[in-house]
Amino acid sequence: MEVEKIERTINFSEICRLCMGKEPDMIPLFIDEDNLLERIINFIPMLKLYAEDGLPAQVCPQCVQRVHECYNFKLQCETVDATLRQLINSRQEQVLMQYLISRACICMC
Ligand SMILES: [Zn+2]
Repeated sequence: MEVEKIERTINFSEICRLCMGKEPDMIPLFIDEDNLLERIINFIPMLKLYAEDGLPAQVCPQCVQRVHECYNFKLQCETVDATLRQLINSRQEQVLMQYLISRACICMC
């Protein structure tokens, strides 16, 4: 289907900005609710989301749920990464301490 025909058959005020789906309970994208817009921009920075850009200004409930799940997964990955790095640093410190202690023993002999 040609782009012009698609534009004529699809009402941008009724479809989801993220999946083009049409649901009865759409959530406004540019009203600050649950940090939805901020999370989308944070997670998918390549999307240029501006109010009044002529594109759909609402998101379906399924996509809202996916955004929050993805955002929480990203946070989880970042937290786990920070924890693992702290663990490896503390292990390296322990190994260094054991090495220094073993050298101290040698010096005392
Ligand atoms: Zn959607």
